[in-house]
Amino acid sequence: MRILVVEDEKKLANLIKKVLKREKYAVDIAYNGQEALDFAETYPYDLIILDILLPQKNGYEVIQQLREKKILTPVLMLTAKDAIEDKILGLDMGADDYLTKPFDFGELLARIRALLRRETQNKPVILKAADLTLNPKTHIVKRAGKVIHLTSREYRLLEFLLRRKNQILTRDEIIDHVWDSSFESMTNIVDVYIRYLRQKIDTGFSKKLIHTVRGIGYCLKEEVED
Ligand code: CA
Repeated sequence: MRILVVEDEKKLANLIKKVLKREKYAVDIAYNGQEALDFAETYPYDLIILDILLPQKNGYEVIQQLREKKILTPVLMLTAKDAIEDKILGLDMGADDYLTKPFDFGELLARIRALLRRETQNKPVILKAADLTLNPKTHIVKRAGKVIHLTSREYRLLEFLLRRKNQILTRDEIIDHVWDSSFESMTNIVDVYIRYLRQKIDTGFSKKLIHTVRGIGYCLKEEVED
């Protein structure tokens, strides 16, 4: 899951990024409203964390312009003000939730999970395919009841494949959701990580979950068609 953090206080922005990365999200930071719009139009984020008091364009303007452009990514507003009118204004403009600064990181993470859950059509909290399970809250991945240790990137890749189970995903779609903009561009990076992931979740099991769709990309599915 890929998140855009829009916050002009660099220290806070970097701290949020650090906490989110530890939770295995891919994270980009925009330091002003215009940059936020540019990023959001370029990459398909799963969630945007948006400060309200920002240089160039404030958070309200950013939400309004995003929604006008039909970018419907969930937005979690961060506001230093606790006047209720400000929150109402933000929600009316299309924000999905808000948090008043200073906030507790545990609460921030819980709200992020809630918004992402809503976004994935109320799919169960534990993601599953055959005997493979992934718990987005604890990050524990198991196959046939045995815990599998994954790196952050392998985990993000698997979570994305599971959230889009049975859908054919192109390499570009996978890159856009799993890597942030700082990734080393390597043309076969998706294939490399799919190979790592296969070694951990499919090798040694008779039922393979990750399938190659020749000429297109990959698909994680339980049923084998041939
Ligand atoms: Ca600010």
